[in-house]
Amino acid sequence: MTQPDNVLPPRPRHLPIAPKAEPGLRRLPLAGESRPVDQYWRPLYAVWELTLQCDLACRHCGSRAGRARPDELSTEEALGLVQQMYEMGVKEVTLIGGEAYLRPDWLDIARAIAAKGIELTMTTGGRNLTVEKARAMKEAGFRSVSVSVDGLESMHDALRGVRGSWKAAVQSIKNLKAVGIPVSANTQITRPGLTQIEETFELLAESGIHAWQVSQTVPMGRAADEPELLLEPYQVLETMAVLYRIKKKADRAKIRIWPGNDIGYFGPYETMLRGSMPRGHMSSCGAGRMTLGIEANGAIKGCPSLPTKDYTGGNLRDDSLKDIWERSDKLRFTRDRTVEDLWGYCRDCYYADECRAGCSWTSHVFLGRIGNNPYCHHRVLEFLREGKRERMVPRTPPEGQPFDYGIFDIVVEDWPADELAQARRLADTAEGFLLHTERAAAELRARFEARAKDMPEEAVHE
Ligand code: SF4
Ligand code: SF4
Repeated sequence: MTQPDNVLPPRPRHLPIAPKAEPGLRRLPLAGESRPVDQYWRPLYAVWELTLQCDLACRHCGSRAGRARPDELSTEEALGLVQQMYEMGVKEVTLIGGEAYLRPDWLDIARAIAAKGIELTMTTGGRNLTVEKARAMKEAGFRSVSVSVDGLESMHDALRGVRGSWKAAVQSIKNLKAVGIPVSANTQITRPGLTQIEETFELLAESGIHAWQVSQTVPMGRAADEPELLLEPYQVLETMAVLYRIKKKADRAKIRIWPGNDIGYFGPYETMLRGSMPRGHMSSCGAGRMTLGIEANGAIKGCPSLPTKDYTGGNLRDDSLKDIWERSDKLRFTRDRTVEDLWGYCRDCYYADECRAGCSWTSHVFLGRIGNNPYCHHRVLEFLREGKRERMVPRTPPEGQPFDYGIFDIVVEDWPADELAQARRLADTAEGFLLHTERAAAELRARFEARAKDMPEEAVHE
């Protein structure tokens, strides 16, 4: 029997869930000198993976987290990095993992960041964020914490691989609020989770969050093992309709909506969703221009989400943060990129110069190179006008290392006759979902609820 499109099949076991990560790349070449443009751009926002150790086993985890990396920075090296970030003018550091609080010295590092006057935030799965930890975080100087919630209880637990992870995340929101730390939430949209996003937001709104960040699952790490988790490009129609509906509710509740840079672009809701951004709409990728990604072993990337093997610019054990930022090609790519670097549909797009194909991470992990991005509202609407849509077909599987990816091909096809009119209505009204998405939703919930009793209560990483 074929499964409906958005039913989550059993977790594949052909790769270890949390493989032992390779040691970080070392002694990478840097340019002889920095240019004015390299000194113009500064890393204002840094996302720091403190450890790859994790107490969840998420099916969509891009870093395949679970075990610590074999070569994570020592406390002394981590504190040295805090000093270097301060000297570089970093304004905000978000601690992530794995799960940052599993590193024994995480509060010492957090305190050092806050002591420099850098805004200290964290993103957490909240599996073991007790009220005692929350109190210690308040004392350490955390300004805001974002808790990950990807759906209603059975969906979230199935995606996070641990029974009880939804209840724990909701409890961690309460614990953080109880000690006076402002709490936001972040949600990844998966194909099976799409129909629950609105209800999930409503629950989060009731829990008192001040902001909500939403992104889509892309095929990196463990998510690349399971293409069934991924939205098809044409489902951007549904995503944007959901976000339009949520945005109206969020405005009433005074909750800030923050669509991730992978949620694209330039459709009719762009100003509504991104009007508060400096340019009033999505601008091109900020990796290596304002954003900095740090892996737990000192590997430096322009954005934390970018694939490790393609975008590691250097290691703090070999070179200073300043030298890597200013003189590594892997961090310079967005400073040098022009429309000439785009390809496929994006190359001739009306918005090409402003957008530069949007999120580099999304393009690279689907297509193996940047410069063409089918997950774009403008593009989907243009195809819909012709009765066409794009679909992604897996070609090459991932290798099984943190932040790896497979390769997909883009297939352009006619909309199925039974969905074309509905897709056009959805584009016009922002109401509902596509036929196959709705059909699968009821079956999906039933399956998850039936399987919930078999889920482990602790993360299993073998
Ligand atoms: S088609 Fe490409 S360049 Fe045009 S708006 Fe979409 S992502 Fe940006
Ligand atoms: S790769 Fe994507 S997520 Fe990373 S900085 Fe660029 S736009 Fe943002």
